[in-house]
Amino acid sequence: MLWLAARSTLYREPGRPDRLIGVTFDISDRKAAEDRVWRAANQDPLTGLPNRALFQRRLEDALARAEADQTSVCLLLIDLDGFKDVNDTLGHDAGDALLKITAERLREFVRDCDTLARLGGDEFAVILVSPLELQHATALGKHILSRLCEPLIYEGRMISSRASIGVAASPHHHRESRELLKDADLALYRAKTEGRHRVVAYAPEMREATERRVTVAREVQEAVREGRIVPFYQPKVSFATGAIVGLEVLARWQHPTRGVLTPGYFGSVFEDSELAIAIGESLVTQVAADVRSWLDRGLDCGRVAVNLSSAEFADPGLADNTLRVLRSAGVPTKHFEVEVTETVLLGRSTEEVASILRQFHEHGVKVALDDFGTGYASLTHLKRFPVNHIKVDQSFIRDLEHDRDDAAIVAAVIGLGRSLGMKVTAEGVETKGQAECLRQMGCDYAQGYFYAKPMAGSRVRWLLETWTGQGASIPSPSLAKAAIGAHIEIIDFGPDNRAVPPWA
Ligand code: C2E
Ligand code: CA
Ligand code: CA
Repeated sequence: MLWLAARSTLYREPGRPDRLIGVTFDISDRKAAEDRVWRAANQDPLTGLPNRALFQRRLEDALARAEADQTSVCLLLIDLDGFKDVNDTLGHDAGDALLKITAERLREFVRDCDTLARLGGDEFAVILVSPLELQHATALGKHILSRLCEPLIYEGRMISSRASIGVAASPHHHRESRELLKDADLALYRAKTEGRHRVVAYAPEMREATERRVTVAREVQEAVREGRIVPFYQPKVSFATGAIVGLEVLARWQHPTRGVLTPGYFGSVFEDSELAIAIGESLVTQVAADVRSWLDRGLDCGRVAVNLSSAEFADPGLADNTLRVLRSAGVPTKHFEVEVTETVLLGRSTEEVASILRQFHEHGVKVALDDFGTGYASLTHLKRFPVNHIKVDQSFIRDLEHDRDDAAIVAAVIGLGRSLGMKVTAEGVETKGQAECLRQMGCDYAQGYFYAKPMAGSRVRWLLETWTGQGASIPSPSLAKAAIGAHIEIIDFGPDNRAVPPWA
């Protein structure tokens, strides 16, 4: 295409006809340059879709028009699940190919009057205008999900793609673009935390939950500074010997007015990288000092396991820093273990997680896979990550004696652990019946209120000194009470306060 510009001048001379003299210029180059500048400012170079800046203007225009016409605008935020994994495992070219194909597939769903944009990374957005309304947007989101999860082949390898979608609409939710975006973002966050690959529409309680999270995060930040986030410990007991083989570290918040708070109240902070890393560092330092003091008294605490959340793996120095703290406190790594859930293995860049876990493993720190059976981890994960220890989730233990499916699952996990050379711990063991059942199934270790509730570090010393193991006598409740005085409520020998060891 050729772009031309013309300039002309009118000449008037008395006694002569008027003359128009003009010149025509070829301005194609200038137009092409302008076009390039416009594209650079408004378009995503990879997919050719509107970028965030243009999306923002289109959203504001659409909202202004809808306000004038009394119609609605719907916003869908679409985020690919596990995109980083594709980048990490198949390379950036495969990641780019996935983004381009996603853009093409999304184009099939939008009309000329709508806007499809790439906001950055693996996040896309769709602005739907009247006559489509909230329910149409949610239905559209479901169609998009099923289209996006159709597999695609890149250079002979299959890439599977899934997405999570958050939906918000004006005027149902908020009318102002910034607030509407926040609504859709909160709905997207909920879609991700509810297990991904789903469409969630915004609801006002999501803002309340976020505000609560923000307030708790602020308070916990302060609590970490004041040293009020402390480790509690819960023993893990061997079925074979009755001995304590380790302790799990569980974070507690010693609140100045509300007593000791559990993660049930403040656990959301483990999703915030900065805060989770700060809590982790503070806990590991306290744990290392506690372990050293028990070892100095000749008490064997076995392996002490800390929980690591996905957010903590954002710190590439996680293993280095932890190992340094252990070294400087003089704690051998054979006394240390880390627990990660399946979500951690599936979460952020699996390569980074695997490399940090390998570092731990190479230095003698064992790795436990927590809450096993509740997530989406496959047997591949057990092979791909250096896992030494499986913890069967409490949900399978609760009805173990009555639910044949649960019993079959637990038996299968125990068998799996044995054939892979991994130890298996049953979590949340609360009754003698459960313990007996697990022992007969050949489970290695147990942890739960049946043995002891989580307790402060100062009480662990007493626990280790008085725990006598299978066959030996365990202090009767009255002796125990005398020994720990007012702390009896912390150490719980089970609902009926048996005087015999729970594993006998
Ligand atoms: P988890 O790692 O699965 O920890 C086990 C939870 O089960 C603990 O809850 C423990 O107190 C509870 N529990 C133990 N035995 C029994 C029992 O017999 N019956 C019942 N009903 N519950 C039992 P807690 O301490 O409230 O911790 C909840 C979750 O918070 C933990 O689940 C873990 O995911 C997380 N968490 C705790 N401390 C930390 C931490 O320092 N860092 C990170 N990243 N996460 C932590
Ligand atoms: Ca755990
Ligand atoms: Ca667990």
